[in-house]
Amino acid sequence: MRKVNCSICGGGMLCPESMLKAKHHVCGECFEERPDKVVKLDPAKTYLGAGEEAIDEMMADGMAMGLADTAFDEIWKEAKKHLKGLAEKERARHLFEAGAHLAILCMLEGARADKRRMERGRAGKNACHSG
Ligand SMILES: [Zn+2]
Repeated sequence: MRKVNCSICGGGMLCPESMLKAKHHVCGECFEERPDKVVKLDPAKTYLGAGEEAIDEMMADGMAMGLADTAFDEIWKEAKKHLKGLAEKERARHLFEAGAHLAILCMLEGARADKRRMERGRAGKNACHSG
């Protein structure tokens, strides 16, 4: 590991030798605290000094927001019919179930799409990210 300076805050961070040539380096703190700046960097040319857990969290956040953007209206329209007369907690549970259902469908679909992509050897598009 070598010491480099974070491209966002300029603070010191560690970078493996193999990633020294990356155009940008982002420390774990900036990765978590300043995602707005991180998304502006070309991911192919950026070394993220964050743990896998933080990366998973950020991906999950992004996917959850994307799903909410594309599917919440649909879920809400459908769920509203069943929500009357339910306690607040029951309503929340109903919506959570609908959201989790969709997320799992999306993951399964994504896994299938990945498999197809690998079989065909060319890039396809995951419906979950089509916006
Ligand atoms: Zn930083």
